[in-house]
Amino acid sequence: MAKESTLRFGAQTDEVTSLLRIVNMVRTHEASTRPEIGRVTGLGRGVVTQRVDQAIDMGFLEDGEFGPSSGGRAPRTLRFRSDQGRIVVCALGALHIHVGVALLEGDIIDETHRAWDVSRGPAETLDTAMSMLDELLARTPDVPIWGVAVGVPGPVDFLTGRPVAPPIMPGWNGFDVRRKFEQRYDAPVWVDNDVNLLALNERARRRDEHADLIYCKIGTGIGAGLLSQGRLHRGANGAAGDIGHVRVRDSDVPCRCGKVGCLEAVAGGWALVRDAEQAIADGATGYLARAAQTGEAITPERISMAAEDGDAVAIALVQRSARVMGESIAALVNMFNPSTIVVGGAVPAAGEIFLAEVRHRVYELSLPLATRDLTIAQSVNDVREPLRGGAEMVREQLFDATFPRWFADGRPTVQGIFSVAA
Ligand SMILES: [Zn+2]
Repeated sequence: MAKESTLRFGAQTDEVTSLLRIVNMVRTHEASTRPEIGRVTGLGRGVVTQRVDQAIDMGFLEDGEFGPSSGGRAPRTLRFRSDQGRIVVCALGALHIHVGVALLEGDIIDETHRAWDVSRGPAETLDTAMSMLDELLARTPDVPIWGVAVGVPGPVDFLTGRPVAPPIMPGWNGFDVRRKFEQRYDAPVWVDNDVNLLALNERARRRDEHADLIYCKIGTGIGAGLLSQGRLHRGANGAAGDIGHVRVRDSDVPCRCGKVGCLEAVAGGWALVRDAEQAIADGATGYLARAAQTGEAITPERISMAAEDGDAVAIALVQRSARVMGESIAALVNMFNPSTIVVGGAVPAAGEIFLAEVRHRVYELSLPLATRDLTIAQSVNDVREPLRGGAEMVREQLFDATFPRWFADGRPTVQGIFSVAA
């Protein structure tokens, strides 16, 4: 306790700064032995030893194996204690709940998911998600939760953790999602748009801390997560990248948001389902029609599978979605100049059929300078992506954004992170 209060009240700023730096260097593998830390920071040997001992006392670091020797005695490596806390992630989609538990280094150690319609409202949805999480936590060793990530399929005011007028989530507007999780898990909570989590997952997966990347999700709805130099661009109200309700040309189809001619009313999964059902009612034959006759529901997933299988109706629908998406992505490319576009979600799961059409439209409609080094790729299509992205978001908030605020307490707390000092 004496040490903590010294750190908090009496410490030299330099002391805390170098402690934070050393813990983060070991955490990110920038340096892993005391001599390396000395070389990178320029701190003297005595100071490094003292700071490392402090970090070990506080529970952030531990001694590991002996590293390679450079002539003299081999130095001991240091490890960040990734197991001293857990990150909890709740990823809500339009039609599913996916929850997981991660180590502080981001590895998902347990997860579960179920089908669920998010339009059932926040109370019922979050109670269900939390009981799923409780099951996971019951089979995890009793380790404190350091942070919670919640992803929702719509715009979020990141500062307050509340959804903002999400078109497909009646009852969620302004709901205090953060407080609900804080009360249950007594840990700091961050709420974000699900596509932002997917973009962060790509940053982590590609190990590209400074990525200029756009993640476009074409699932039931459509959204985009924007990374500029590795940082999420959320916009003034959290609505950045909400491209699903941008008007596309030559369309006056009604959208579920109440407007007409929106991108997702033409290219989104629900629009494809609507048109597939109409085509079948009009007498179309093939894989989709047979599936419908046996009572199977037409879903965006089934349409992209049917397209891969050569079903003519499905191919036409997926290609139309890709063409219109390609036009919208071209506009984003001209404005944002990313180096990477990743397309994910149920509709692009059709693979080359979708990707080829998007590429074609983007290269046709974008400025040559903006496409010179542009990569357009498909997501790896792993259902765990939003969980990994959520863990990445919490890691960024804990160790980059708020570390100095809670470091002296030994672990993050709601109070330490969110209470604003007078
Ligand atoms: Zn709309």
